[in-house]
Amino acid sequence: MSGTRDDDRHGKRIEAYLSLPSFLTIVSSAVEVFRRETLGYLIGIKGENKFMVEYAIPYQTAESTATQSTIDPNRVLRINEILETLAQGLEYIGDFHSHTVYGHIPGTVRPSGMDLMSTVPGELNLICAVNLKRKSARWRQNRRGILTGTVGAYRIEIGGYYVERAHFGRKYRRVVINCPPITGFNEG
Ligand SMILES: [Zn+2]
Repeated sequence: MSGTRDDDRHGKRIEAYLSLPSFLTIVSSAVEVFRRETLGYLIGIKGENKFMVEYAIPYQTAESTATQSTIDPNRVLRINEILETLAQGLEYIGDFHSHTVYGHIPGTVRPSGMDLMSTVPGELNLICAVNLKRKSARWRQNRRGILTGTVGAYRIEIGGYYVERAHFGRKYRRVVINCPPITGFNEG
């Protein structure tokens, strides 16, 4: 079974491949600030309907609260300058942030209304949901294209979404998240 009904309706499905280093950075930075949210950016290569994520880099100065993180847009400009000069072939391809427990409400990989309002069309958006685990589970990609597993005391989910063009409302497409170094090559 490949693709969901959503994907069929909107055309070709969009996939992202996480390198092991980018996966480790996203998970460790999300767990490190558990009960607050982390925020960072993704460096890699963008192909047609496909993102190769090489590095994930947390913003060191994001204003972080339990429910949202914000970042000064000038910092994004400075990062792009650095990449243009130093990282040949790699580019800024999107960002990631975490969702976590808020009171008794568990964090999910669903983008919030605020997330969608600030989403840049054409960029990859990853959400890493961190909750306390009930039992251990090995890492796998579930049927909705979400990467899920446990580490330490936590249950982690990494989901992706994508907005084709600027619009009002809450429409977005799910991005299928792959990380073969973690799930093995025969999953899905
Ligand atoms: Zn969010």
